[in-house]
Amino acid sequence: MEMIRANNLVFEYRQHNEHGDVESVHRALNDVDLEVSKGDFIAILGHNGSGKSTLAKHLNALLKPKEGTLFINGFDAHEDNNLWSIRQSAGMVFQNPDNQIIASIVEEDVAFGPENLGVPSNKIRDRVDAALEVVEMTEYAGHSPYKLSGGQKQRVAIAGVLAMRPDCIVLDEPTAMLDPSGRKEVLDTVEKLNADGITIILITHFMEEAAMADHIFVMEEGNIVLDGHPKFVFSHVDQMKALGLDVPEVTELAHALIQSGVKLKPDILTIEEMVQAICQLR
Ligand code: ADP
Ligand code: MG
Repeated sequence: MEMIRANNLVFEYRQHNEHGDVESVHRALNDVDLEVSKGDFIAILGHNGSGKSTLAKHLNALLKPKEGTLFINGFDAHEDNNLWSIRQSAGMVFQNPDNQIIASIVEEDVAFGPENLGVPSNKIRDRVDAALEVVEMTEYAGHSPYKLSGGQKQRVAIAGVLAMRPDCIVLDEPTAMLDPSGRKEVLDTVEKLNADGITIILITHFMEEAAMADHIFVMEEGNIVLDGHPKFVFSHVDQMKALGLDVPEVTELAHALIQSGVKLKPDILTIEEMVQAICQLR
């Protein structure tokens, strides 16, 4: 089943001067093709300004395509009538946990999304409880979100999205502002949601996070320039470096060893795979 389909997607930011005339046009998406099936775990990589957030905002109907085709859960993104269906289908989690907090009590914050969607109030309670349970924040339901750690705040943000019962969650660098333990909490939650069948679109700068995906799309100047399974994408070490991106450290080590004549596969992504490969050399 198809979750997202984009063909030749184009978007331009227009800057206007004080008279309202267009002063400059910046093409942030240039002919993007993207296909995501329900249940997939997708990662999107690309250096700053490559168009990742612009693409993410299209998936949640925060931006409307200028040209090209875009369907989210079967809803045509060009149709204004589909706005709420798209927002309900694909929820969005942003980088800064503090900017996403609206209410002064965790459970009220989580209720905000379904309230906005017009979910009847007698159903909201169940949705909020279920969402907090999934992200393991039930015991904080009555707390102030402001006292929580970064990882906990992001989990509350995820619960707020979950309470809208989406098919897909788009996370735009959700761990960028977190410490390692917060990052792990959020990534564990993301993996759990995916195991429950929710489609995940994860934008990240952390290559180890991208390595968890089923498929990686790499962006550069509004285009997708490389895509495939993590093993395929990360075996392109030189191309990734040329794009200003890294590969997981262990993959880079494998690449350096191969260049020094050690007979390893070029698609090692984890420490376990490296250990196995080296043991087989003996
Ligand atoms: P990324 O998330 O990969 O860093 P963005 O999608 O935020 O990239 O930005 C893509 C390009 O669009 C960049 O060149 C950026 O400067 C430009 N851009 C982003 N937001 C705006 C905006 N509101 N107005 C004008 N240009 C923008
Ligand atoms: Mg961004």
